[in-house]
Amino acid sequence: MKKPSVYVTRNIPKAIRILSRSCNLTVHKRNALPSKKEIIRNVKDKDGLLCSLSDTIDSEVINAAKKLKVISSYSVGYDHIDIDAATKGGICVTYTPEVLTETTADLAFALLLAAARRIPEADSLVRKGRWRDGWKYDFMLGTDVHGKKLGIVGLGRIGAAVAKRARGFNMKVLYHNRKRLSDEMEKELAVEYRSLDDLLKESDFVSVHLPLSKETFHLLKEQKLKLMKPTSYLINTARGSIIDEKALVKALRKKWIAGAALDVFEKEPISRNSQLLKMNNVVLAPHIGSASTETREKMAEVAAMNLYNVLNGKRPLFTVNPQTLNF
Ligand code: NAP
Repeated sequence: MKKPSVYVTRNIPKAIRILSRSCNLTVHKRNALPSKKEIIRNVKDKDGLLCSLSDTIDSEVINAAKKLKVISSYSVGYDHIDIDAATKGGICVTYTPEVLTETTADLAFALLLAAARRIPEADSLVRKGRWRDGWKYDFMLGTDVHGKKLGIVGLGRIGAAVAKRARGFNMKVLYHNRKRLSDEMEKELAVEYRSLDDLLKESDFVSVHLPLSKETFHLLKEQKLKLMKPTSYLINTARGSIIDEKALVKALRKKWIAGAALDVFEKEPISRNSQLLKMNNVVLAPHIGSASTETREKMAEVAAMNLYNVLNGKRPLFTVNPQTLNF
């Protein structure tokens, strides 16, 4: 029997190892991302596509891929894929939730601590030889994390894992979702529900864990950022476009908030001209939420198995549009 053909947009060794036994693979091996033109040219005659969050799989790509049965994303977010177009074309879209939850929650908490205690600024100061006067009572003062209020916007898998970490720091945790959790879940996670506005008004730290969608695009805009305390910090490890970045720069400049810690940006990689690069009260990371060796291996396994399963008439481990499956 002829092996199915698959286009892989990144050199992900473990996924390639798993799939090469059963599929004819075309792998994009260059460091530079494949252009949309390249993706279209490569998926045109393929049965499967394994892509990452930085590949835009819009209706133009999907409509050009006449044989495509599955789009397997090496990510939990799927905002880069036109799900409606894929579903209309009967293409199953799969993703990699759960395996990256704890690792991303670790990073969110690390960023929170880094911003509150000014760790990157302190590190840079020591390296540059600017630690000149020894210990001083008012040198490099940050703010406490323990005992403070953490507001989680989007208490799903990652948000809940962040809430668990906050308990260890004796923080009070508020959350906002569209649907309130059951009383039992709220009790188990030790979290209290708030409207978005109340959460922003009350929290000392706000951590964003929403998916990016039409509804959440620029959800945190100027008017919302103005509600936050001048002593508060905003942490984003979800997607850049959930926050209006221009409004965030304004909020930081005008001191509506004390600081921010960001793993994700409206444009990635961030522009060299971004005002955020000039601000000491902002901690920046290059979209490394799930970037641990262990987790990236697990994601590769899940992404490969999702793709393999669909091509072999089995249910994938995680799919966004199960209605496309007739098995
Ligand atoms: P999840 O389990 O689906 O959780 C998302 C939460 O957001 C849910 O509780 C949902 O509750 C809430 N939500 C969705 N739309 C909302 C809205 N319009 N208003 C208020 N709440 C809303 O997702 P997850 O696994 O925790 O992942 C969250 C996101 O993190 C992913 O989509 C991805 O973009 C991002 N992420 C980034 C990295 C990184 O490398 N930085 C790594 C992993 C994940 P309701 O449905 O009740 O509203």
